[in-house]
Amino acid sequence: MTQPRLLAGLPRRLVVAGVLAALVVAVYGGYRLLPRLSSLLAPGCTTTPIGASAGPGASLGSARVVSPDSSAGIRPAPAASGAPGSTAPGPASFFAPMTTLPPGPPAGAAALRVPVLIYHEVVPNADPAASDYEMTPALMESQLCLLAARGWQTITARQLAEHLASGTPPPQRTVVITLDDATSDHLANAYAILRRYGFSATFFVIAGFVGTDGYLTWDQVRMLRDGGMEIGSHSTHHPRMSEISAAEAASEVRTAQQVIGQQLGAQPVTFAYPGGAYNDTAVAAVRDAGLLAAFTTAEGRSATWADRLTIPRINVGAVWSADKLLSILEGYVK
Ligand SMILES: [Zn+2]
Repeated sequence: MTQPRLLAGLPRRLVVAGVLAALVVAVYGGYRLLPRLSSLLAPGCTTTPIGASAGPGASLGSARVVSPDSSAGIRPAPAASGAPGSTAPGPASFFAPMTTLPPGPPAGAAALRVPVLIYHEVVPNADPAASDYEMTPALMESQLCLLAARGWQTITARQLAEHLASGTPPPQRTVVITLDDATSDHLANAYAILRRYGFSATFFVIAGFVGTDGYLTWDQVRMLRDGGMEIGSHSTHHPRMSEISAAEAASEVRTAQQVIGQQLGAQPVTFAYPGGAYNDTAVAAVRDAGLLAAFTTAEGRSATWADRLTIPRINVGAVWSADKLLSILEGYVK
């Protein structure tokens, strides 16, 4: 190897060591800086100031509910294989036996580090004082745009249960997106944004609230399902299930199963505890109703087969920029 004239006179070992050191610094520096620069490296994704409603999502920011098929430019989400409704169930399947999972993963299977996100209302006039439960479409858009640009993909809550049952982890950079309450903004805003990036999600509906003021109608819930989204249960009346009797807890879960099953042609297989409140009685009610997985709002970084009825989730508040959310998710990557 001929040494460049500039470095002539230096011992060759010193030159090689210097080049190697520069390479290490460059690679490490790039790795550290990449998340910060990610919005620059992902053209089209904007980092949105808290509370702002302008941006790529602004055109979706209307509370007007539109048919998912009339949303120009939105590409179809990948079919959520195995999601309730993905096999176009007819009314008869309501009476079919509940889908069951294998008895569980092989002994010693590792816990799965798959982040599960919670979104609530996605509205243009999100109240900054309610930042845990409301965010603008522009912010959600910037978050999902960045996740997509950085190679993140989604599975539904049901698919996470299937991975837990088999003990097989999904690919790295897989996230579960869930939305609680099925409020009336979810179709025009959250769903439209999800579809733009080819993401699936699980919408947890409150069976007794569907069709009432401020919530989606059953026709709209069916549109979500037909668009590749999973419909899960969020109880019948949204009580704090740790504060009701065993009989009431059982009724809350079973009535929701029946109502949603009648409306969609198949009963849901996943559940989210209202307000994240649960105790042993609530878990027993969910287990006895045959649900495959249930989600809390507790913090935690992994999910196991044994704890599939108390899977932790991450609340995505409006105080998180897209970069902040990305950095949290990247913490799950081994
Ligand atoms: Zn809720």
